[in-house]
Amino acid sequence: MLVSAARMHLEGDRRDPAWWGTPHVELMGRMRRRMIVIAAFGLTPPGAALELSDAGDARVSLPLSSGLERYHGETQRLLESILVRNGCRLVRTDFLDKSLAPEEGVHFSTAHQVGSCRMADAPSAGVVNAHGEVFGCPGLYVSDGACIPSSLAVNTSLTILANAERIAAGILDRYRLQQGAAA
Ligand SMILES: Cc1cc2nc3c(=O)[nH]c(=O)nc-3n(C[C@H](O)[C@H](O)[C@H](O)COP(=O)(O)OP(=O)(O)OC[C@H]3O[C@@H](n4cnc5c(N)ncnc54)[C@H](O)[C@@H]3O)c2cc1C
Repeated sequence: MLVSAARMHLEGDRRDPAWWGTPHVELMGRMRRRMIVIAAFGLTPPGAALELSDAGDARVSLPLSSGLERYHGETQRLLESILVRNGCRLVRTDFLDKSLAPEEGVHFSTAHQVGSCRMADAPSAGVVNAHGEVFGCPGLYVSDGACIPSSLAVNTSLTILANAERIAAGILDRYRLQQGAAA
């Protein structure tokens, strides 16, 4: 996945291009033996947007604020310093867009979108209350990743599952349903 989505070269390789041809073959040869791919999951402040096009397609975007750019820079500096001090050589990565051209500037990607119906204490701060019930719409519940308030900085699915089970148990309680009857 990484190889198809990025151009990579060993730091310090001055050949041009260093991401293609012989340098690339050499890098792949090394990679087969020993390479660590690090993905940093961040506790970034909620800043993404989810928009619907006129055709109804959903589009997620993450505007790069100066705070986010600083956070990215500091995370990269920290991770790289740990690796270099432990004797690693860095592989530089240019991520590619859909036309296979390198992305400009800082590049983020995520498969862990959350928070489009954020859980909150009050309607001014979110869409659902702590029971997963939509403010102002009694009986309408959100129990998927949408109601997780913010980045988890870890893989999402177990938290989403645990929270959904908690909300389901709350619904059973609220309507005085038995497990069997609900099933
Ligand atoms: C490539 C990738 C790798 C990932 N790896 C991990 C991992 O290793 N560990 C981890 O914890 N998480 C991982 N995640 C994240 C995790 O998969 C998601 O956070 C989680 O599945 C989200 O759960 P959800 O219930 O909110 O949404 P989803 O699992 O997306 O469920 C939404 C469901 O709604 C259905 N749906 C959509 N629209 C409609 C409609 N109009 N009518 C009816 N049904 C509809 C969809 O078909 C889908 O079944 C990964 C995600 C991706 C994309």
